[in-house]
Amino acid sequence: MMTSLEIMRTAYIGMGGNLASWAGAPEATLAAAALRLESLGRVPRRSSLYSTAPVGFAAQPRFVNAVVELETDLEPRALLEGLQSIELEFGRDRSAGIANGPRTLDLDLLLFGERKISEPGLNVPHPRLAERAFVLVPLNEIAAVVVVPGAAKTVGQLLTRLIEATKAVSGAVVRVRSEVWAGKAIASEAFKDGNEKIW
Ligand code: ADP
Ligand code: MG
Repeated sequence: MMTSLEIMRTAYIGMGGNLASWAGAPEATLAAAALRLESLGRVPRRSSLYSTAPVGFAAQPRFVNAVVELETDLEPRALLEGLQSIELEFGRDRSAGIANGPRTLDLDLLLFGERKISEPGLNVPHPRLAERAFVLVPLNEIAAVVVVPGAAKTVGQLLTRLIEATKAVSGAVVRVRSEVWAGKAIASEAFKDGNEKIW
């Protein structure tokens, strides 16, 4: 009989959305999608939920963003396909074709263990990771000391560098209290005075 050795790897998935889906408002979509991610592995941790200003294409609603940790035995390509099928489940429509445009759900493979992958349609670490506060701020919450392959820096160091290099735009990244995302117990302990402006 064949024995299969399943190697679990830790991936980080960036989640975002700014249009309602069948699940509800973007925060409800992200909460439902985070549960669906458990079909691809185990989700031991998630960041807080953030409200973020759109980047690149300004004439659209603010985004909701978060990052989750995913322990998976899938290979990166199979994982990306799994992420894309969950995007479709939540009504992701790429037909408008606007880069950085409005969407119900975006799932990006940010990091996959220590792997560096450059293939057509699959680049890991995610190429724009280091420039995006809406990714680095939530990623830093759950993976500050993780080294980003290729950058030879930790997530925390990349965030510090981005903060130093960027003029702060007030309200660009705001941690939001969300019971639908975190559950009542966590949400009420984490926030004393409502939302917390990070950027
Ligand atoms: P974006 O997330 O950049 O706004 P899309 O979600 O439409 O844009 O993704 C565009 C393409 O990026 C996808 O078809 C996918 O093949 C490719 N891609 C390459 N690397 C990754 C990655 N690490 N995570 C997610 N998509 C990726
Ligand atoms: Mg994407």
